Amino acid sequence: MRIAAALIVILLAHPVPAQESEPPLPRERPEVTEDAPVIPLPRTRPETVEEPVAEPAPEPETVPEAAATATRPPWIDPQWPEGEPPVAAAIPEPPPPPRIYQSACPAMLLGRVEATALPPIADGQCGTQSPLSVTGILANGRMVPLSGAIETDCGMASALPAWLEAVDSYLVARENTRIAELVVGTSYMCRNVNNGATGNLSFHGFANALDIVGFRLEDGRFVTVLDDWDEALSPEGRLLRFAHGAACANFTTVLGPEANAQHEDHFHFDLGCHGQSCTARICE
Ligand SMILES: [Zn+2]
Repeated sequence: MRIAAALIVILLAHPVPAQESEPPLPRERPEVTEDAPVIPLPRTRPETVEEPVAEPAPEPETVPEAAATATRPPWIDPQWPEGEPPVAAAIPEPPPPPRIYQSACPAMLLGRVEATALPPIADGQCGTQSPLSVTGILANGRMVPLSGAIETDCGMASALPAWLEAVDSYLVARENTRIAELVVGTSYMCRNVNNGATGNLSFHGFANALDIVGFRLEDGRFVTVLDDWDEALSPEGRLLRFAHGAACANFTTVLGPEANAQHEDHFHFDLGCHGQSCTARICE
């Protein structure tokens, strides 16, 4: 209590001054006498000085360096003789190769033969547009290999599977064996019939013929027209006759040893057109 009483005494002895920031009262203006010079007040408001607005500086003219030194456009090679156009020499594009029109072969598309397409053959009167290189023929669900690739057309490639399957089925039924390999001779060759110096062109010249030499069997036998045809009643002779007769159902020309001496060692098959309606067949 004593401390509080002392504080009150101190505060009463030193009163808190008024706010020091309070402005002092204005002094009385001295009375203006008539003798005193009168300073007229300006009637117009003084002009406010605006800050000068900087006008955009004009863009400097861009002068091409080359134009500064020459009247020619800058993209012109200064080394280029004046008067000649600076056009780059156009490189002519090579003409596209001519399209080769060929047709696909269903026997190949369906997997009935193992073959690849070959470019057209054009050899005088001989040739064909869409030859195939055939290396295998389907028979009874498997691909029977050929002793060598044959060059033939789609017609022959389409007729061969049915014939080979008939021969293979004969071997399964009669000989308890199958064809291991079809031994082939001439396929495409530009020559006359029977290799004559004159006469008609052979269908070999159109890749539409095939010579058959014989059969290699799975049981190891090698049956050939040359060695086995004459023994007509032997198993091999029967096989060859069956193969010859089956071919007459699948090709339009079938020639064997009975036809002439030129065919004593092979069968000749082709799909040449015989007769006025292309339905006649030659089976000799
Ligand atoms: Zn032939």
